Amino acid sequence: MDTARYDLVVIGTGPAGQKGAIAAAKLGKRVAVIDRKEMVGGVCLHTGTIPSKTLREAILYLSGFRERTFYGRDYSVSKDITVPDLAFRVQKVLAREVEVVRAQLHRNRVETLAGTSHFVDPHTLEIVSADGAVTRVTADHVLIACGTRPAHTDAVPLDGKRIIDSDQLLKGDTLPRDLIVVGAGVIGLEYASMVTALNIKVTVIEARPTVLDFVDREMIDALLYFMRQRGANFRLGEKVVSVGYDNRGRVVAALESGKEVHGDTLLYTVGRRTNADLLGLEAAGLAADERGRIAVNEFFQTVVPHIYAAGDVIGFPALASTSMEQGRLASRHMFGADGQTRRDPIPYGIYTIPEVSMVGRTEQELTQAKVPYEIGLAKFEELAKGQMLGVDAGLLKILFDRRTRQLLGVHIFGERATEIIHIGQAVLAYGGTIDYFRDAVFNYPTMAEAYKVAGLDGLNRL
Ligand SMILES: Cc1cc2nc3c(=O)[nH]c(=O)nc-3n(C[C@H](O)[C@H](O)[C@H](O)COP(=O)(O)OP(=O)(O)OC[C@H]3O[C@@H](n4cnc5c(N)ncnc54)[C@H](O)[C@@H]3O)c2cc1C
Repeated sequence: MDTARYDLVVIGTGPAGQKGAIAAAKLGKRVAVIDRKEMVGGVCLHTGTIPSKTLREAILYLSGFRERTFYGRDYSVSKDITVPDLAFRVQKVLAREVEVVRAQLHRNRVETLAGTSHFVDPHTLEIVSADGAVTRVTADHVLIACGTRPAHTDAVPLDGKRIIDSDQLLKGDTLPRDLIVVGAGVIGLEYASMVTALNIKVTVIEARPTVLDFVDREMIDALLYFMRQRGANFRLGEKVVSVGYDNRGRVVAALESGKEVHGDTLLYTVGRRTNADLLGLEAAGLAADERGRIAVNEFFQTVVPHIYAAGDVIGFPALASTSMEQGRLASRHMFGADGQTRRDPIPYGIYTIPEVSMVGRTEQELTQAKVPYEIGLAKFEELAKGQMLGVDAGLLKILFDRRTRQLLGVHIFGERATEIIHIGQAVLAYGGTIDYFRDAVFNYPTMAEAYKVAGLDGLNRL
């Protein structure tokens, strides 16, 4: 069997794999990436970030959600929205993005090898293609960027029809009349809030008594209040023990407390597990932890020094945004190029309707750390741009140190939160103070003007 030889072989073409491969190729290395043909672009492109965020845009447009402040609660661009209507936009974006990824890899002379791979020894990988053909490659370095798949449990027997996980959305024809979402993590809340925009009743069931504990409480309270007003029902602190169909053919989730929740469709969004179990790690001298995560050092190097891992397979924060950067840094380190030495706070974007985004520390963290902080607030409905967009809810909160006036965190709930957070991120990264927002001139009218309003409010409180 011929064995092609590379400086770097990357397992997986998601954000971590793509950026890792391209960074090494830019350093003049011979690089190959391995993935199934239909998965080029990773979970990110096929079932994760890109489809879910495109679906959100499709729902916002077709439901006329953004226009309802002006034209009434029942306004919608299309009266009978179907699954194919929503899937149409998703497919368009997906097809284009696959082309973009393929072109980027090709332009950078990264070879794409089709199939799934596993280790034969620490430098050799076997690739099994869709038609069963087996080839081998050897590499000086390997980057594991194999990502995750939805985690399943016997209590929730998925059937791909009306008991589904997030990979199985957009497969049917008609939208459910009501939806049960099990799991109030980021993915569960994003989908739950999207369906409320379609006037579909949703019940969210979550075993823990609170949701998204890493987010500032005020933002979560605002989000849950908004979702409840749109018909969402939350069953927090309730555990699902079994799921099936009732005698009317509706889905029923039985809760540990003895209650039952009935609905048209159930979406299960509790957790994901990594694909590391498919890699034959022991042949490479590696092991994963009980959740399938591979341990790495600060340079994304595993215990086998020539093998690196990046993206969701190494665990938190498991975002496309961070995965890309991890892949790039891993490749730069393996070939002795300069990497990033600063570790600035990263932004989090939660694409609920409305969005939530944050950077830096939360009020609960600062209180626990006994930091004497002050807040500055801006309400979106008071911004001229907010009025023009028909925004009826939204909040930007700046947290800063009372003594030094240094910025400590920014938390936003509302339209464009995930975009304008980056202003706060830059000020935070460069050690700026609240005075920046008072002194800077912002384009007017913009949503970013909220920083100015919040800055002035914060200074007034001193
Ligand atoms: C519904 C949903 C919404 C999300 N929304 C966001 C968001 O808005 N913003 C954000 O930043 N993140 C979001 N994420 C998270 C984001 O998608 C992931 O963090 C990101 O895709 C991880 O990238 P990755 O490179 O680790 O791997 P993945 O994107 O998971 O890709 C891994 C690839 O490896 C391949 N692979 C696995 N095993 C093998 C093998 N043995 N051989 C060859 N190839 C293999 C797989 O086929 C896959 O293509 C979302 C995730 C989900 C599920």
